[in-house]
Amino acid sequence: MREEEKLARDVYQTLATQWQMQVFSNIADSEQTHMDQIKCLLDGYGLADFATEEVGSFNNEELQNLYQELITNGAVSLNDALRVGALVEEVDIRDLDATLNVTQVPEIRVVYENLRSGSEKHLQAFVGTLAQLGETYTSQILDEAAVDTILTPLTQPAVFDIDTQTLHIPALRLSQEGNLLPLEETYQLELHLNEDGSTLQVINLERIAQ
Ligand code: ZN
Ligand code: ZN
Repeated sequence: MREEEKLARDVYQTLATQWQMQVFSNIADSEQTHMDQIKCLLDGYGLADFATEEVGSFNNEELQNLYQELITNGAVSLNDALRVGALVEEVDIRDLDATLNVTQVPEIRVVYENLRSGSEKHLQAFVGTLAQLGETYTSQILDEAAVDTILTPLTQPAVFDIDTQTLHIPALRLSQEGNLLPLEETYQLELHLNEDGSTLQVINLERIAQ
């Protein structure tokens, strides 16, 4: 898990440099904290840490190969890079779930559940950014239904209340840690119906403090 979190960090650091997108650098910082949390567990149990400091270098051969593949795919286009990010998070969630199924040790479960909830937020961030680029995401290794559940916060529609003429937007924003935070906003709209009644125009829009 320590090297798997490093894989995520290294891939995002590399993609951040390549594409100059904050979503990658923010989430890379979050992966560093995930690596640190696993290091604490290793230290606590007196286990050796085999992860190297070098970006892109792994002891686990499978992770080494995966890193090369992800970097290659992520270099094709920004959309590909974001899909690579989403794939890393799906792999993370799959492996954390597998481990959570076999360990009952509370301190390990706390860390893994924390990492898992981080991965869900990262997946939301990558898919949300893809959506802004007009791409609809399909799950890559997890069940479509499981991914849909994780992505629910992204699919809440804006709601217009005709009686109060307010528009409520369940907007999302990315925090410094790379987590998606809801930034709910409500706007008071001043509407104008044109003479033949065919067009409703917004002539003023004011944000209502929550
Ligand atoms: Zn992570
Ligand atoms: Zn992550």
